[in-house]
Amino acid sequence: MAKVLCVLYDDPVNGYPSTYARNDLPHLDGYPGGQTLPAPSAVDFTPGHLLGSVSGELGLRRYLESQGHTLVVTSDKEGPGSAFDRELADADVVISQPFWPAYLTKERFARAPKLKLALTAGIGSDHVDLDAAIEHGVTVAEVTYCNSISVAEHVVMSILNLVRNFVPSHQIVLDGGWNIADAVARSYDVEGMHVGTVAAGRIGLAVLKRLAPFDMHLHYTDRHRLPESVERELGLTFHETTADMVPHCDVVTINAPLHPETEGLFDDDLIATMKRGTYLINTARARIADRDAVVRALESGQLAGYAGDVWFPQPAPADHPWRTMPHHGMTPHISGSSLSAQARYAAGTREILESFFAGTPIRDEYLIVEAGKLAGTGAHSYSTNS
Ligand code: NDP
Repeated sequence: MAKVLCVLYDDPVNGYPSTYARNDLPHLDGYPGGQTLPAPSAVDFTPGHLLGSVSGELGLRRYLESQGHTLVVTSDKEGPGSAFDRELADADVVISQPFWPAYLTKERFARAPKLKLALTAGIGSDHVDLDAAIEHGVTVAEVTYCNSISVAEHVVMSILNLVRNFVPSHQIVLDGGWNIADAVARSYDVEGMHVGTVAAGRIGLAVLKRLAPFDMHLHYTDRHRLPESVERELGLTFHETTADMVPHCDVVTINAPLHPETEGLFDDDLIATMKRGTYLINTARARIADRDAVVRALESGQLAGYAGDVWFPQPAPADHPWRTMPHHGMTPHISGSSLSAQARYAAGTREILESFFAGTPIRDEYLIVEAGKLAGTGAHSYSTNS
Protein backbone atom coordinates (compact mmCIF):
# COMPACT_ATOMS: atom_id res chain seq x y z
CA MET A 1 0.00 0.00 0.00
CA ALA A 2 1.24 3.46 -0.84
CA LYS A 3 1.97 6.54 1.21
CA VAL A 4 0.69 9.68 -0.46
CA LEU A 5 2.22 12.94 0.79
CA CYS A 6 0.18 15.99 -0.10
CA VAL A 7 1.45 19.55 0.44
CA LEU A 8 -1.32 22.17 0.42
CA TYR A 9 -1.67 25.79 1.42
CA ASP A 10 -2.98 26.73 4.85
CA ASP A 11 -6.69 27.07 5.65
CA PRO A 12 -8.18 30.58 5.79
CA VAL A 13 -7.00 32.60 8.79
CA ASN A 14 -10.53 32.47 10.27
CA GLY A 15 -10.92 28.74 9.75
CA TYR A 16 -12.21 26.40 7.06
CA PRO A 17 -15.37 27.88 5.49
CA SER A 18 -18.78 26.55 6.42
CA THR A 19 -20.62 28.58 3.77
CA TYR A 20 -19.73 29.89 0.32
CA ALA A 21 -20.56 32.98 -1.74
CA ARG A 22 -22.37 30.87 -4.36
CA ASN A 23 -24.34 27.64 -4.19
CA ASP A 24 -22.79 25.86 -7.15
CA LEU A 25 -20.46 26.05 -10.13
CA PRO A 26 -21.51 26.48 -13.75
CA HIS A 27 -21.60 23.31 -15.83
CA LEU A 28 -18.84 22.94 -18.46
CA ASP A 29 -19.06 20.43 -21.31
CA GLY A 30 -15.32 20.25 -21.91
CA TYR A 31 -12.24 22.34 -22.57
CA PRO A 32 -11.81 24.54 -25.66
CA GLY A 33 -10.33 22.46 -28.46
CA GLY A 34 -12.03 19.25 -27.35
CA GLN A 35 -9.91 17.94 -24.45
CA THR A 36 -12.26 16.24 -22.02
CA LEU A 37 -12.64 17.30 -18.41
CA PRO A 38 -11.07 15.14 -15.69
CA ALA A 39 -12.93 11.85 -15.45
CA PRO A 40 -12.18 9.96 -12.22
CA SER A 41 -14.49 7.04 -11.35
CA ALA A 42 -16.09 9.24 -8.63
CA VAL A 43 -15.34 12.23 -6.42
CA ASP A 44 -15.87 12.58 -2.66
CA PHE A 45 -16.11 16.37 -2.56
CA THR A 46 -18.60 19.09 -3.36
CA PRO A 47 -17.49 21.13 -6.40
CA GLY A 48 -17.25 24.76 -5.33
CA HIS A 49 -15.89 23.96 -1.86
CA LEU A 50 -12.37 24.89 -0.78
CA LEU A 51 -10.31 21.84 -1.75
CA GLY A 52 -6.82 23.30 -2.17
CA SER A 53 -6.15 24.05 1.51
CA VAL A 54 -5.04 21.58 4.17
CA SER A 55 -8.55 20.75 5.44
CA GLY A 56 -9.88 20.41 1.89
CA GLU A 57 -7.34 17.60 1.26
CA LEU A 58 -8.17 17.79 -2.47
CA GLY A 59 -11.12 15.58 -1.52
CA LEU A 60 -8.81 12.55 -1.55
CA ARG A 61 -8.90 11.05 1.95
CA ARG A 62 -11.94 8.79 1.70
CA TYR A 63 -10.86 7.41 -1.68
CA LEU A 64 -7.23 6.76 -0.69
CA GLU A 65 -8.00 5.25 2.70
CA SER A 66 -10.73 3.02 1.27
CA GLN A 67 -8.02 1.55 -0.97
CA GLY A 68 -5.72 0.96 2.00
CA HIS A 69 -3.33 3.81 1.21
CA THR A 70 -2.05 6.38 3.70
CA LEU A 71 -2.63 10.09 3.12
CA VAL A 72 -0.48 12.68 4.89
CA VAL A 73 -1.43 16.32 4.33
CA THR A 74 0.71 19.22 5.47
CA SER A 75 1.46 22.85 4.65
CA ASP A 76 4.83 22.69 6.43
CA LYS A 77 7.22 22.45 3.51
CA GLU A 78 10.32 24.59 4.09
CA GLY A 79 13.69 23.43 5.31
CA PRO A 80 15.18 20.23 6.64
CA GLY A 81 13.02 20.13 9.79
CA SER A 82 9.72 20.49 7.91
CA ALA A 83 6.96 17.89 7.98
CA PHE A 84 7.41 17.57 4.20
CA ASP A 85 11.07 16.66 4.58
CA ARG A 86 10.35 14.17 7.38
CA GLU A 87 7.49 12.44 5.58
CA LEU A 88 9.25 12.37 2.21
CA ALA A 89 11.66 9.63 3.27
CA ASP A 90 9.12 6.83 2.75
CA ALA A 91 6.57 8.52 0.44
CA ASP A 92 5.52 6.78 -2.78
CA VAL A 93 3.64 9.77 -4.17
CA VAL A 94 4.06 13.51 -3.62
CA ILE A 95 1.24 15.88 -4.54
CA SER A 96 1.86 19.60 -4.54
CA GLN A 97 0.32 22.73 -6.00
CA PRO A 98 2.22 25.52 -7.78
CA PHE A 99 0.48 28.01 -5.44
CA TRP A 100 2.28 26.46 -2.45
CA PRO A 101 5.03 24.47 -4.12
CA ALA A 102 6.84 21.67 -2.36
CA TYR A 103 10.16 22.15 -4.12
CA LEU A 104 11.38 18.70 -5.15
CA THR A 105 15.06 19.41 -5.52
CA LYS A 106 17.87 17.06 -6.51
CA GLU A 107 18.74 16.67 -2.81
CA ARG A 108 15.19 15.79 -1.88
CA PHE A 109 14.97 13.20 -4.69
CA ALA A 110 18.10 11.59 -3.24
CA ARG A 111 16.33 11.33 0.14
CA ALA A 112 13.12 9.82 -1.31
CA PRO A 113 14.07 6.31 -2.44
CA LYS A 114 10.46 5.07 -2.69
CA LEU A 115 9.14 8.03 -4.69
CA LYS A 116 7.45 6.97 -7.95
CA LEU A 117 5.06 9.80 -8.78
CA ALA A 118 5.31 13.60 -8.39
CA LEU A 119 1.87 14.93 -9.13
CA THR A 120 1.13 18.62 -9.66
CA ALA A 121 -2.44 19.50 -8.68
CA GLY A 122 -2.46 22.31 -11.20
CA ILE A 123 -0.26 23.21 -14.16
CA GLY A 124 3.47 23.91 -14.19
CA SER A 125 5.89 21.34 -12.73
CA ASP A 126 8.94 23.60 -12.55
CA HIS A 127 9.02 23.15 -8.74
CA VAL A 128 10.13 19.60 -9.55
CA ASP A 129 13.72 19.18 -10.73
CA LEU A 130 12.87 17.39 -13.96
CA ASP A 131 16.45 16.26 -14.58
CA ALA A 132 16.44 14.58 -11.16
CA ALA A 133 13.02 13.02 -11.83
CA ILE A 134 14.39 11.60 -15.08
CA GLU A 135 17.48 10.30 -13.31
CA HIS A 136 15.44 8.62 -10.53
CA GLY A 137 12.77 7.20 -12.85
CA VAL A 138 10.00 9.20 -11.15
CA THR A 139 6.87 9.98 -13.18
CA VAL A 140 5.86 13.66 -13.20
CA ALA A 141 2.27 14.51 -14.13
CA GLU A 142 0.07 17.59 -13.96
CA VAL A 143 -3.60 18.32 -14.60
CA THR A 144 -3.23 19.94 -17.99
CA TYR A 145 -5.91 22.53 -18.83
CA CYS A 146 -7.51 22.43 -15.35
CA ASN A 147 -6.90 26.13 -14.68
CA SER A 148 -5.76 27.54 -18.02
CA ILE A 149 -8.96 29.53 -18.51
CA SER A 150 -8.88 30.67 -14.87
CA VAL A 151 -5.43 32.16 -15.52
CA ALA A 152 -6.48 33.67 -18.85
CA GLU A 153 -9.28 35.51 -17.04
CA HIS A 154 -6.77 36.79 -14.47
CA VAL A 155 -4.48 38.01 -17.25
CA VAL A 156 -7.29 40.00 -18.90
CA MET A 157 -8.28 41.41 -15.52
CA SER A 158 -4.66 42.40 -14.81
CA ILE A 159 -4.24 44.14 -18.17
CA LEU A 160 -7.38 46.20 -17.59
CA ASN A 161 -6.38 46.87 -13.98
CA LEU A 162 -3.00 48.26 -14.96
CA VAL A 163 -3.94 50.18 -18.09
CA ARG A 164 -7.02 51.77 -16.50
CA ASN A 165 -5.19 52.36 -13.18
CA PHE A 166 -7.86 50.51 -11.22
CA VAL A 167 -6.00 49.62 -8.01
CA PRO A 168 -4.88 53.17 -7.05
CA SER A 169 -8.35 54.48 -7.96
CA HIS A 170 -9.97 51.89 -5.69
CA GLN A 171 -7.53 52.85 -2.93
CA ILE A 172 -8.75 56.46 -3.20
CA VAL A 173 -12.27 55.22 -2.40
CA LEU A 174 -11.04 53.12 0.54
CA ASP A 175 -9.18 56.17 1.84
CA GLY A 176 -12.36 58.29 1.74
CA GLY A 177 -11.11 60.49 -1.11
CA TRP A 178 -12.45 61.72 -4.46
CA ASN A 179 -9.21 62.67 -6.23
CA ILE A 180 -10.22 62.16 -9.85
CA ALA A 181 -7.15 63.78 -11.38
CA ASP A 182 -4.85 61.58 -9.32
CA ALA A 183 -6.73 58.50 -10.51
CA VAL A 184 -6.87 59.37 -14.21
CA ALA A 185 -3.37 60.82 -14.62
CA ARG A 186 -2.19 57.25 -15.37
CA SER A 187 -5.38 55.86 -16.97
CA TYR A 188 -5.68 54.80 -20.64
CA ASP A 189 -7.97 52.70 -22.86
CA VAL A 190 -6.71 49.35 -24.19
CA GLU A 191 -8.57 49.91 -27.47
CA GLY A 192 -6.04 50.22 -30.29
CA MET A 193 -3.09 49.05 -28.19
CA HIS A 194 -0.79 46.25 -29.38
CA VAL A 195 -0.72 43.25 -27.05
CA GLY A 196 1.65 40.32 -27.44
CA THR A 197 1.80 36.96 -25.72
CA VAL A 198 4.98 35.01 -25.12
CA ALA A 199 3.55 31.55 -25.92
CA ALA A 200 0.16 30.86 -27.40
CA GLY A 201 -0.61 27.57 -25.70
CA ARG A 202 -3.80 26.99 -23.77
CA ILE A 203 -3.53 30.16 -21.67
CA GLY A 204 -1.89 32.41 -24.26
CA LEU A 205 -4.44 31.63 -26.95
CA ALA A 206 -7.34 32.02 -24.50
CA VAL A 207 -5.99 35.46 -23.57
CA LEU A 208 -5.81 36.49 -27.23
CA LYS A 209 -9.37 35.27 -27.85
CA ARG A 210 -10.64 37.23 -24.86
CA LEU A 211 -8.83 40.41 -25.89
CA ALA A 212 -9.97 40.36 -29.53
CA PRO A 213 -13.35 41.99 -28.72
CA PHE A 214 -11.50 44.91 -27.10
CA ASP A 215 -10.23 45.89 -30.58
CA MET A 216 -6.59 45.46 -29.64
CA HIS A 217 -3.91 44.44 -32.17
CA LEU A 218 -2.88 40.88 -31.30
CA HIS A 219 0.68 39.48 -31.51
CA TYR A 220 2.27 36.22 -30.41
CA THR A 221 5.45 34.21 -30.41
CA ASP A 222 5.69 30.48 -29.73
CA ARG A 223 7.91 27.51 -30.47
CA HIS A 224 5.21 26.13 -32.77
CA ARG A 225 3.10 28.36 -35.00
CA LEU A 226 -0.71 28.26 -34.64
CA PRO A 227 -2.83 26.99 -37.56
CA GLU A 228 -3.28 29.59 -40.28
CA SER A 229 -7.06 29.51 -39.76
CA VAL A 230 -6.63 30.61 -36.13
CA GLU A 231 -4.20 33.36 -37.09
CA ARG A 232 -6.66 34.62 -39.70
CA GLU A 233 -9.75 34.40 -37.48
CA LEU A 234 -8.13 36.47 -34.72
CA GLY A 235 -5.97 38.67 -36.95
CA LEU A 236 -2.76 37.55 -35.23
CA THR A 237 0.74 38.73 -36.07
CA PHE A 238 3.35 36.00 -35.50
CA HIS A 239 6.93 36.82 -34.45
CA GLU A 240 9.75 34.27 -34.54
CA THR A 241 11.12 35.26 -31.12
CA THR A 242 10.19 37.19 -28.00
CA ALA A 243 12.91 39.71 -28.85
CA ASP A 244 11.31 40.29 -32.26
CA MET A 245 7.86 40.80 -30.76
CA VAL A 246 8.21 42.98 -27.68
CA PRO A 247 9.33 46.26 -29.37
CA HIS A 248 5.95 46.29 -31.18
CA CYS A 249 3.83 45.92 -28.05
CA ASP A 250 2.14 48.22 -25.55
CA VAL A 251 1.20 45.24 -23.38
CA VAL A 252 3.13 41.97 -23.06
CA THR A 253 1.75 38.87 -21.34
CA ILE A 254 3.95 35.89 -20.48
CA ASN A 255 2.31 32.48 -20.82
CA ALA A 256 5.20 30.04 -21.33
CA PRO A 257 6.42 27.41 -18.89
CA LEU A 258 9.56 28.06 -16.86
CA HIS A 259 12.31 25.88 -18.29
CA PRO A 260 15.91 26.49 -19.33
CA GLU A 261 14.84 28.33 -22.50
CA THR A 262 12.65 30.86 -20.68
CA GLU A 263 14.47 31.38 -17.35
CA GLY A 264 15.59 35.02 -17.00
CA LEU A 265 14.18 35.93 -20.43
CA PHE A 266 12.92 39.38 -19.34
CA ASP A 267 16.20 40.93 -18.21
CA ASP A 268 17.49 44.53 -18.43
CA ASP A 269 18.55 44.06 -22.05
CA LEU A 270 15.21 42.75 -23.31
CA ILE A 271 13.18 45.26 -21.28
CA ALA A 272 15.30 48.07 -22.77
CA THR A 273 14.06 47.11 -26.25
CA MET A 274 10.40 47.56 -25.25
CA LYS A 275 8.49 50.81 -25.83
CA ARG A 276 8.70 53.19 -22.88
CA GLY A 277 5.56 52.65 -20.82
CA THR A 278 4.88 49.02 -21.75
CA TYR A 279 2.77 46.99 -19.31
CA LEU A 280 4.14 43.54 -18.46
CA ILE A 281 1.87 40.80 -17.11
CA ASN A 282 3.41 37.58 -15.85
CA THR A 283 1.16 34.86 -14.50
CA ALA A 284 3.47 32.14 -15.83
CA ARG A 285 6.46 31.89 -13.49
CA ALA A 286 8.38 34.62 -11.65
CA ARG A 287 11.83 33.51 -12.74
CA ILE A 288 11.01 34.13 -16.41
CA ALA A 289 11.58 37.77 -15.44
CA ASP A 290 14.67 39.09 -13.66
CA ARG A 291 13.32 40.28 -10.29
CA ASP A 292 15.48 43.38 -9.95
CA ALA A 293 15.32 44.34 -13.63
CA VAL A 294 11.52 44.59 -13.26
CA VAL A 295 11.88 46.88 -10.23
CA ARG A 296 14.42 49.07 -12.05
CA ALA A 297 12.19 49.37 -15.11
CA LEU A 298 9.15 50.39 -13.04
CA GLU A 299 11.20 52.96 -11.16
CA SER A 300 12.60 54.47 -14.36
CA GLY A 301 9.25 54.42 -16.20
CA GLN A 302 10.47 52.00 -18.88
CA LEU A 303 7.63 49.74 -17.70
CA ALA A 304 4.35 51.53 -16.87
CA GLY A 305 3.10 48.60 -14.82
CA TYR A 306 3.76 44.99 -13.84
CA ALA A 307 1.14 42.52 -12.69
CA GLY A 308 0.82 38.84 -12.07
CA ASP A 309 0.59 36.33 -9.28
CA VAL A 310 3.80 34.35 -9.51
CA TRP A 311 6.78 34.93 -7.21
CA PHE A 312 10.03 33.27 -6.26
CA PRO A 313 10.21 31.78 -3.79
CA GLN A 314 6.64 31.06 -2.72
CA PRO A 315 5.45 32.17 -0.30
CA ALA A 316 7.27 35.43 -1.05
CA PRO A 317 9.19 36.88 1.91
CA ALA A 318 7.75 40.01 3.55
CA ASP A 319 10.58 42.11 2.13
CA HIS A 320 10.25 40.88 -1.49
CA PRO A 321 10.73 44.05 -3.61
CA TRP A 322 7.71 43.22 -5.78
CA ARG A 323 5.47 43.94 -2.78
CA THR A 324 6.51 47.60 -2.72
CA MET A 325 7.70 48.47 -6.25
CA PRO A 326 5.69 51.24 -7.98
CA HIS A 327 2.73 50.65 -10.31
CA HIS A 328 2.25 46.95 -9.68
CA GLY A 329 -0.90 44.85 -9.62
CA MET A 330 0.48 41.78 -7.87
CA THR A 331 -1.57 39.21 -5.95
CA PRO A 332 -0.44 36.09 -4.14
CA HIS A 333 -0.42 33.05 -6.44
CA ILE A 334 -4.19 32.72 -6.87
CA SER A 335 -5.11 32.93 -10.54
CA GLY A 336 -5.22 29.17 -11.07
CA SER A 337 -6.79 28.31 -7.74
CA SER A 338 -10.30 29.72 -8.00
CA LEU A 339 -12.94 27.42 -6.50
CA SER A 340 -13.90 26.60 -10.08
CA ALA A 341 -10.35 25.50 -10.90
CA GLN A 342 -9.98 23.56 -7.65
CA ALA A 343 -12.90 21.29 -8.54
CA ARG A 344 -11.18 20.44 -11.84
CA TYR A 345 -7.70 19.90 -10.49
CA ALA A 346 -8.94 17.85 -7.52
CA ALA A 347 -10.84 15.61 -9.95
CA GLY A 348 -7.81 15.44 -12.28
CA THR A 349 -5.53 14.54 -9.37
CA ARG A 350 -7.82 11.67 -8.49
CA GLU A 351 -7.98 10.55 -12.13
CA ILE A 352 -4.16 10.43 -12.27
CA LEU A 353 -3.97 8.52 -8.95
CA GLU A 354 -6.58 6.00 -10.15
CA SER A 355 -4.52 5.33 -13.30
CA PHE A 356 -1.30 5.14 -11.33
CA PHE A 357 -2.62 2.64 -8.77
CA ALA A 358 -4.38 0.55 -11.44
CA GLY A 359 -1.21 0.45 -13.52
CA THR A 360 -3.08 1.84 -16.53
CA PRO A 361 -1.63 4.65 -18.66
CA ILE A 362 -1.91 8.21 -17.38
CA ARG A 363 -3.39 10.41 -20.11
CA ASP A 364 -0.64 11.59 -22.44
CA GLU A 365 -1.70 15.23 -22.01
CA TYR A 366 -1.09 14.96 -18.23
CA LEU A 367 2.45 13.56 -18.54
CA ILE A 368 5.58 15.66 -18.13
CA VAL A 369 8.17 12.95 -17.37
CA GLU A 370 7.77 9.18 -17.68
CA ALA A 371 10.13 6.25 -18.01
CA GLY A 372 13.23 8.41 -17.67
CA LYS A 373 12.41 11.05 -20.29
CA LEU A 374 10.17 14.01 -21.06
CA ALA A 375 6.81 12.64 -22.19
CA GLY A 376 3.40 13.83 -23.37
CA THR A 377 2.87 17.56 -22.73
CA GLY A 378 6.35 17.67 -21.18
CA ALA A 379 7.98 16.48 -24.41
CA HIS A 380 6.05 19.12 -26.39
CA SER A 381 6.43 22.18 -24.17
CA TYR A 382 9.39 21.70 -21.78
CA SER A 383 13.15 21.38 -22.09
CA THR A 384 15.74 20.03 -19.62
CA ASN A 385 19.35 20.88 -18.86
CA SER A 386 20.57 17.50 -20.07
P1 NDP B 1 0.55 25.02 -22.51
O1 NDP B 1 1.45 23.83 -22.43
O2 NDP B 1 -0.78 24.88 -23.16
O3 NDP B 1 1.28 26.21 -23.24
C1 NDP B 1 2.60 26.51 -23.06
C2 NDP B 1 3.09 27.12 -24.35
O4 NDP B 1 4.39 27.66 -24.13
C3 NDP B 1 3.21 26.11 -25.48
O5 NDP B 1 2.50 26.60 -26.60
C4 NDP B 1 4.71 26.07 -25.71
O6 NDP B 1 5.04 25.90 -27.05
C5 NDP B 1 5.11 27.46 -25.33
N1 NDP B 1 6.54 27.62 -25.09
C6 NDP B 1 7.36 26.81 -24.40
N2 NDP B 1 8.60 27.32 -24.41
C7 NDP B 1 8.55 28.47 -25.13
C8 NDP B 1 9.52 29.43 -25.50
N3 NDP B 1 10.79 29.28 -25.14
N4 NDP B 1 9.11 30.49 -26.24
C9 NDP B 1 7.82 30.63 -26.61
N5 NDP B 1 6.87 29.73 -26.30
C10 NDP B 1 7.23 28.66 -25.56
O7 NDP B 1 0.40 25.53 -21.01
P2 NDP B 1 -0.64 26.57 -20.40
O8 NDP B 1 -0.91 27.63 -21.40
O9 NDP B 1 -1.79 25.87 -19.79
O10 NDP B 1 0.24 27.14 -19.19
C11 NDP B 1 1.43 27.89 -19.47
C12 NDP B 1 2.18 28.15 -18.18
O11 NDP B 1 1.42 29.00 -17.35
C13 NDP B 1 2.41 26.90 -17.32
O12 NDP B 1 3.56 26.17 -17.73
C14 NDP B 1 2.58 27.47 -15.96
O13 NDP B 1 3.94 27.82 -15.73
C15 NDP B 1 1.75 28.75 -16.01
N6 NDP B 1 0.52 28.60 -15.23
C16 NDP B 1 0.29 29.47 -14.20
C17 NDP B 1 -0.81 29.32 -13.39
C18 NDP B 1 -1.11 30.27 -12.29
O14 NDP B 1 -1.89 29.94 -11.41
N7 NDP B 1 -0.53 31.47 -12.30
C19 NDP B 1 -1.75 28.20 -13.59
C20 NDP B 1 -1.49 27.44 -14.77
C21 NDP B 1 -0.37 27.61 -15.53
P3 NDP B 1 4.87 24.55 -27.85
O15 NDP B 1 4.02 23.63 -27.06
O16 NDP B 1 4.26 25.03 -29.12
O17 NDP B 1 6.26 24.03 -27.95
